[in-house]
This record gives sequence, structure tokens and C-alpha cells, in this order.
Amino acid sequence: MSRFWSDIVHSLTPYVPGEQPKIDGLVKLNTNECPFGPPDSVVQAIAASSGDALRLYPDPTGSALKDAVARFHAAQGITPTHVFVGNGSDEVLAHIFMALLRHPAPLLAPDISYSFYPVYAKLYGITLREIPLAEDFSIRVDDFLAAGPNGGIIFPNPNAPTGMALPLAELCRLLDGNPDSVVVVDEAYVDFGAESADQLVTQYPQLLVVRTLSKSRALAGLRVGYALGQPELIEALTRVKDSFNSYPLDRLALAGGVAAMDDVAWFQDACARIVATRSRMTAGLQARGAQVLPSAANFVFATFPGRDAEAIAAGLRGQRVLVRHFRKPARIAPFLRISVGTEAQTDTLLAALDQVLPTLGRR
Ligand SMILES: *Cc1c(COP(=O)(O)O)cnc(C)c1O
Repeated sequence: MSRFWSDIVHSLTPYVPGEQPKIDGLVKLNTNECPFGPPDSVVQAIAASSGDALRLYPDPTGSALKDAVARFHAAQGITPTHVFVGNGSDEVLAHIFMALLRHPAPLLAPDISYSFYPVYAKLYGITLREIPLAEDFSIRVDDFLAAGPNGGIIFPNPNAPTGMALPLAELCRLLDGNPDSVVVVDEAYVDFGAESADQLVTQYPQLLVVRTLSKSRALAGLRVGYALGQPELIEALTRVKDSFNSYPLDRLALAGGVAAMDDVAWFQDACARIVATRSRMTAGLQARGAQVLPSAANFVFATFPGRDAEAIAAGLRGQRVLVRHFRKPARIAPFLRISVGTEAQTDTLLAALDQVLPTLGRR
């Protein structure tokens, strides 16, 4: 608290990111990063753009990156006019809230979803109405359609932290029943097994698809994200961006982002490896008594019935394995969100559980 603060600062509840420990040698399964580094093609592109050219401002429009994003999604009818790029998808999301979701009617989001959405809603003075997930943690499209007038709808697909995917046919039903406000589909984890809505962008003027290079392209440290939508929506985002920061993507991020979008072979192989390890990790957790929600993401959401999830997380930390526990809402407090690591990290996780679980009582 300070008398120097603007009024709104007193009322903010900032997002708390997962721990980035300063200690080496931890098995880090708490923030859904890729467990292996980006391809050489990306590292070399970044190195090649690091030199004298850093004197100069980067391209404020990020046109080379928009072109590369459009190349990747070309078969779905995406052109550079459908693309907006930003400093991580979190920044893209912030501009979306400001540019497209600030209306008198409330914004709808699942009660269990990405916990940055309520933070942005508060920052921009948007009323957020949470629609409860079904008993099995799936998104019920009918509940969104029955909620009355809305100023927009947002959810991750696959959802976070559940990892569960909404089928494309259900998304179409939502879009068909909700033609008059923007529907934002946050596809941070889509590459690990869900159907992308990129193919619907040219068909639905109210659809905005958000993607990141942080998870499936191993570039959380570079900060690159993008949105796909029809030019009318993209223009709104560009107007907000150009009223905030002309150069959200620096020269290194633009060069690395282009190389990452173009290295399709590495990308497909990395996703396939994660998906294979996810199956083995899920089986290993189930063999130790866990119930695991069906995941289409690079993490699983698992509960050990009768055991205290926070105590398991603390025990794993003692074994140098980090996982994520959310206290709220109460319905997910019995769960742990565990990122899919390498094969070796998965072995370490399972061995650590074998140490920890016998030391914990049942509730
Ligand atoms: C990780 C994540 C993001 C943020 O990604 P960045 O591009 O690193 O900012 C956005 N949405 C969801 C659901 C995520 O899990």
C-alpha cells in the first residue's frame, strides 16, 4: 500500500506463476515447459541475428513471423492478414481482453481454467462470469449457451489445468449458438493431441484462436505467441498493441520464431515424444493408485484418492521433483498437475512417488 499508487493497483490480484527455482538439478514438472531444448535451426537463427543489427529497432509489424505462422497454417486457409503476433501468448491475451472483451455483458469462462483470465478481467474492469465444468471436468457447451447475454467467451482447449480437450464439433455448436460476441480458444496445448480450431477461422468471424511457442516448440524463454482471426479482429488487436508497445517482439524473438515455425519435422517429432511419454507416465501413476483425467496436453491432472495432494507435492519437492498444486477452487485441491518430462525424468518422478507415498497417511 502506498499513497503514490493509482487506485486500481490497490485492487489488483496478480497472477502467480509456477516456481522457477534457482537451484540446479531439480526435476522440473511444474510449469509445462518442454523437457528438451529447441532445435539447432532456432538456436542458429537467433545467433545469426545477434550482432550489429541489434542497434536497430526490430520490424514493428513482425511481418516475417506473421508470414511464417501463415505458412504453417496455410492448409487451413490462413494468410498473414489473419495473424497477430505478440510477446508470448499472455501478452496476446492481454490485448484481446482490452480490445475485444470489454463490454457491458459479462465475459464467460469455465470455473476451472487458466488462472490468468480473472487477473486480466480485473485489470481491465471486465465482469467475469464463471461457468462450472461438468462433474467429469468437461466443458458443457449448453451451459455457456444458456448463460444469457455475454460480452465474450474464453477457455483453453485443451483446458488447463485439467488437460481435457473439447471436440471440434462441440466448438462449432458453441460458435453457431453464439454469433454476436468473440469466442477465444486458447490453444496453448493443442499440439499434444486436440483438434485445432485454426481450420474454422475463415468460417467464423467471431472466432479468435491463440497459440504459443512456449510449450510445443520449446521456447518459453523467448516469449512468442500469436492469434489467428479474421482481419477485423486482428485490426482491433493491432490498434491496442500500437497504443502500448510498438516493438513487443525483439529481433532475436522474431528470428527464432520464424525458424521455429518453419522446423516442422522437429516440432512433429517433439510432440510425438511427449505424447508417448505421457502414456507411460499415466500408466505409472495409475499403477500407484492415481486417478488421471484424460489428457490431450503435455501435462496430466491426477489425484491420489484419500491422500493429501499438497503433502504429496511437498514430499516430491523433498525428493527434488517439482509439480504444481492449486488450492483453489476446492474441487481441484485434491489434484496435482504434473508436466510430461523426458523418459528419465518420468522414471525419477515415479521412483520419488514410491518413496513419498508410503510415508503419507490416508485421510
Ligand atoms: C502457458 C499458457 C499460456 C501462456 O503462454 P506464453 O506464450 O508463455 O505467455 C497461455 N495460456 C495457457 C492456457 C497456458 O497454459
